[in-house]
Amino acid sequence: MRKIALVTGASRGIGRGIALQLAREGWNVCVNYIQQREAAEVVAAQIRSIGQNAMAYQADVADGEAVNAMVRAVEAQLGPVTLAVNNAGISGQGLFQDTSDEVWDRHMAVNLGGARNVIRAVLPHMLSEKSGCIVNISSIWGLRGASCEVAYACSKAAVIGLTRSLALELAPSGIRVNCVAPGCIDTDMVQVLGDETRSMLIEETPLGRLGTPEDIAHAVAFFASDKASFLTGQVLTADGGFIG
Ligand code: NAP
Repeated sequence: MRKIALVTGASRGIGRGIALQLAREGWNVCVNYIQQREAAEVVAAQIRSIGQNAMAYQADVADGEAVNAMVRAVEAQLGPVTLAVNNAGISGQGLFQDTSDEVWDRHMAVNLGGARNVIRAVLPHMLSEKSGCIVNISSIWGLRGASCEVAYACSKAAVIGLTRSLALELAPSGIRVNCVAPGCIDTDMVQVLGDETRSMLIEETPLGRLGTPEDIAHAVAFFASDKASFLTGQVLTADGGFIG
C-alpha cells in the first residue's frame, strides 16, 4: 500500500504534530488548513526536508465540495489517499442556553461533518483497494461530557459514534477506523483559555503536565501502522490519566 496521508487541520497544533510524525514514519502528507497558509506551507516544507512528498491545501472541511476537490488534488499530486486523519476542529466556551444555533451548527459541521466529508471523499478508492485507514480525533470531553462546552462535547461524542459505526460497516472491506481522544494538549486551543485555566488543567492531569502534539501524533501513527492491523473501532484516550 502506498503511504499517502491526508491530515486535516495540520497547519499547527496537534495536526502539525501528526503530519510530521507520519512523515518520519514514511508517509507522504497533504497538510490541510483553513486560514493559515504560511504555517501550512512551512509544515509541508518540513515534511519534504524529512524526505517525503508533501503539499499544503486550503479547504474548509465543513464544505463537502471543497473537500472533494482537495481529495482529487491530493490524488493528482501525491497519489490516492490511503490514510485519512480527521483532526481539524473548533471549540468554544459558553453556557448551553447562550449557545446560538449558528455556533452549535458550526461545531457539528466542522467537527463531525468535516470527518464525514473527508471519509466520503476518500472511500471510493479505499473500497476499490479493499484497504485503507481512518483515524478520527475526538476528545476526552466527548467521552466524559463538558460543562460550558456542550456543543463541542456533543460533536466529539458523535465522532466516537462515527468511528465505532463505520468500523463495523467498513471492516469487511478491509478498512480500519479508529479514534484518539486527547486530554489537555498544549496548543492554541488550550492557550486561549488563559493562564489560570491552563494551570488548573495541569493540576487536574495526574501526570502533572499538558500533553504535547507529539503525544497524540504517536497514538495516531500507531493506529496507522501495521502494528495496529487487528485494531478497528477503538478509542484510545491519551490524557495523562485525566479521566482515569
Ligand atoms: P488548534 O491549535 O486550534 O488548530 C486547529 C487546526 O484546525 C488548525 O490547523 C486550523 O487551521 C484547522 N481548522 C480549523 N477549522 C478548520 C476547518 N473548518 N477546515 C479545515 N481546517 C480547520 O487545535 P488543536 O488543539 O491542535 O486541536 C486539533 C484537534 O484535536 C481538534 O479536533 C480538537 O478538537 C482536538 N482536541 C484538542 C485538544 C487540546 O487540548 N488541544 C484536546 C482534545 C481534542 P488554520 O491554522 O488554517 O486556522
